[in-house]
Amino acid sequence: MQRRKFDPRNPKYIRGIYNYCDAWCKKCPFTSRCLTYDMEKGNDLVLLEVDLDAREAVLADIEDQGFMEDTEASHIEDKYGFSPAIKSEEFEQYPSAIAASEYADQAGEWLRGWYTRVEAKALMDGTLHDYTSESVPDAVQTIGWYHLQIYVKIMRALRGQQEAMEFGTLKNMPNDSDGSAKVALIGIDNSLEAITRLAKEDPADKHELLLLSRQLKHLKTEVEATFPNARAFVRPGFDNTLN
Ligand code: SF4
Repeated sequence: MQRRKFDPRNPKYIRGIYNYCDAWCKKCPFTSRCLTYDMEKGNDLVLLEVDLDAREAVLADIEDQGFMEDTEASHIEDKYGFSPAIKSEEFEQYPSAIAASEYADQAGEWLRGWYTRVEAKALMDGTLHDYTSESVPDAVQTIGWYHLQIYVKIMRALRGQQEAMEFGTLKNMPNDSDGSAKVALIGIDNSLEAITRLAKEDPADKHELLLLSRQLKHLKTEVEATFPNARAFVRPGFDNTLN
């Protein structure tokens, strides 16, 4: 079968839009203007949107392989929205990295519990238990979508900040670490909103959700202190006026 060719110079594409998005293509208003979407649609990126196990498996697989060459790492980041190369011990000790890692663990545990309960109920009811986007509440999807991505984006931001301190930044170029931190902050904001909404919809889980909310608020404070200019970063397409 002949592969389709994509021209990155096509003016319909917003240059670099995929660098500072949350990779949730199903909810993105810019699919028709995104080169990555055109190249990946129908492939893993889309499937990973609703399959938490697949996302976790991919991340575990990447972590098992340890540090990779930049080219390989960037390929994985393009494909899955996160990069394995940023997981270095040096940055893992930063307060925001520790807080993000702890939140990812706790949220992952809560999500596994949620899915187990739903699956058990579905088996008892004899109802179909498929986890398509329609059958999973939007708030649960949101928590699932961001719980790992927040950590990954913070690690990328920390590495970028370190590189900028060591090697400087290019004149008139946006600061990549602020862009990554902004994506992490958006993930935190969206997750906090989802947790608040879910706590109202599903009071049985209120205590666990409150703990997750506290962790996220602490994480938000850390990220905003470490990257004070992140909120002002202008993401291509999302934050600026389009033609
Ligand atoms: S900008 Fe990001 S979320 Fe939007 S279509 Fe492209 S890859 Fe998907």
